[in-house]
Amino acid sequence: MSISSSNIPSVQPVCIVTHPICSEHLTGTSHPECPKRLDAIVESLANAHLMTKDNTILAAQASKAQILTCHTATYYETVENEVKNASPTGNTTLSTGDTQICLQSLNAALYAAGSVVKAIDVVMAKTARTAFCLIRPPGHHAYTNAGGGFCLFNNVAIGARYAQQVYGIKKVLIVDWDVHHGNGTQEIFYNDPSVFYFSTHNSCNYPGTGKAEETGDGDAQGTTLNCPIAPGRKSSEHVKHAFTNQLTAAMSLFRPELVLISAGFDAHYLDPLGGFNLEDQDFADLTQIVKEIAAKYAQGRIVSVLEGGYDVTNGGLASAVKAHVAALAS
Ligand SMILES: [Zn+2]
Repeated sequence: MSISSSNIPSVQPVCIVTHPICSEHLTGTSHPECPKRLDAIVESLANAHLMTKDNTILAAQASKAQILTCHTATYYETVENEVKNASPTGNTTLSTGDTQICLQSLNAALYAAGSVVKAIDVVMAKTARTAFCLIRPPGHHAYTNAGGGFCLFNNVAIGARYAQQVYGIKKVLIVDWDVHHGNGTQEIFYNDPSVFYFSTHNSCNYPGTGKAEETGDGDAQGTTLNCPIAPGRKSSEHVKHAFTNQLTAAMSLFRPELVLISAGFDAHYLDPLGGFNLEDQDFADLTQIVKEIAAKYAQGRIVSVLEGGYDVTNGGLASAVKAHVAALAS
């Protein structure tokens, strides 16, 4: 599908924001976080008419200043210098941790973060009610001063800061249903009462953070809500219970003005890394719960951002994203 327009013609239920450079972030051979992930999702969304020339726009690059709202200048320079000297095919590991980089990785990461910025513009302008950022590298494991877990810059966190600084949004909710805990996002906002971080994740999985006792610090005590869940056949039930009960109750007090989703699909039963058993319909159900929260407090404003999700072989990633985007659009 060709994407040529930077403007979408009328109010869309969901806008897709992406950029082809996200496919040029190479991670070496047989890495689960690979460009084929995006190809599979594009094919699935296009076939379902959820990604068309009328609802899809190209991202612009995030500026360095936008990246520095969440990351240190030293870390930015580390990425810049290491990417310059990286292998063209992604067989280089970032010195701060387990993220593969190639010569295009900084570019791709700037467009990934820039997609969230653009999606916030679209939703705030009411050009679309919701937006889905189809991007990589993912972001939620990126700390203020270190990348890791396949992530370079924390896309969703940069979006939250942008919405606050440019649109005066006071309170942002970040919902993270990726099977891994978003340790980077938690760290960035751990002392910030204006951003609420909610996560359901596999308690036995990478990165090992996200205990229920981690609830925020200082003024921000109570604005981090972790729901670690054991892997296995009850995991989908427990994830949905956390959304229906804990998240919904917390939001009746917090009352967010904008909702961002760290939408990872590695909690899907077909995912090779996850250990959870969510089905496509479960992602639609979680989306519906988040939509109800957004409708109640945030004028329906939702920006969803792709994080993990690695089943390209059996179609699990593509079908789960399709269920999520269809629920956003409904
Ligand atoms: Zn993940």
